[in-house]
Amino acid sequence: MIVAMQESATEEQIQGVIEHLIQMGFSVHRSTGARQTVVAAVGARAEFDIRILEVLPGVEQVHRISAPYKLAGRSFRPHGTVVQLGNGVNIGGDEVVVMAGPCSVESREQLFTVAEQVAKAGARALRGGAFKPRSSPYSFQGLGVEALQLLREAGDRFRLLVVSEVMEISQIEPMLPFVDILQVGARNMQNFNLLRELGKVKKPVLLKRGIAATLEELLLSAEYILAGGNYQVILCERGIRTFETYTRNTMDISAIPIVHKLSHLPMAADPSHGTGRRDKVAPMARASVAAGADALLIEVHHDPDKALSDGAQSLYPQQFFELMDQLRIIAPAVGRKIA
Ligand code: PEP
Ligand code: MN
Repeated sequence: MIVAMQESATEEQIQGVIEHLIQMGFSVHRSTGARQTVVAAVGARAEFDIRILEVLPGVEQVHRISAPYKLAGRSFRPHGTVVQLGNGVNIGGDEVVVMAGPCSVESREQLFTVAEQVAKAGARALRGGAFKPRSSPYSFQGLGVEALQLLREAGDRFRLLVVSEVMEISQIEPMLPFVDILQVGARNMQNFNLLRELGKVKKPVLLKRGIAATLEELLLSAEYILAGGNYQVILCERGIRTFETYTRNTMDISAIPIVHKLSHLPMAADPSHGTGRRDKVAPMARASVAAGADALLIEVHHDPDKALSDGAQSLYPQQFFELMDQLRIIAPAVGRKIA
């Protein structure tokens, strides 16, 4: 940690900061410049709140050098984490895994129709919400356990893994027999009790970035799961809320290479929620693969105009086929292939 003192800081104030740091267990290295004094402090604990120093008299700026997350940081596993999902599907290796399906499971007919199409197009996992986090309590809330059974059945029929969202702790146990990946939605990224429980589970977790979360906050949320002993975590960019109103969210493609630099965890991209518009999903999916995404999460519906949720951002099966063909061309350009 670096504490830069104000040019006007008195010797007394500098000594005050140094004593504070020593008291808190840091070893201190002082550099006295012609105009400004800088104090380097080594040994910061992950949870140390730098504002304690920022408010001391004479302090201009405090910079943390070490990351506040330890297990999620790249240095913990410099070569990266590969999450093994079964069926020979791995996320975080050479192959880019495409997960696709409807926003919500609505009926057997809907799910099986979409599952067959996405499997044919080359998806490896079937997505579909059973428990839906809806902005309005009057919107469709999901079919619950019935949807989980349908997801498993469709997944087994079409050789697809199953990913579905868990919204609260009590849903974890009932979901385990049916899903291969537990998705934590954007609205729950900082549901720390849920994250802690998922740390005890032996099943991969897909952790989506919160609607207004920084990447540091995303990695700290992952840290909760890792700290519990579950290292099978896949992160996911799904767009953040900005001042732009054209799209539902602003898809932050730069989050992909940034997370790859900061963390060893695989990084997925969800261009469906990232844009909220069917016509913008394919370009952002292509950009995500070009930027190094390890997986994609894409909403597909055979009759999106009648979808009970997120119809406007759901691709028609034909569009999904075309996108997969394009991704198979793009992936090799960045040293990957589509799983
Ligand atoms: C979803 O995947 O359907 C979903 C609700 O996503 P998010 O949590 O990113 O909004
Ligand atoms: Mn959705």
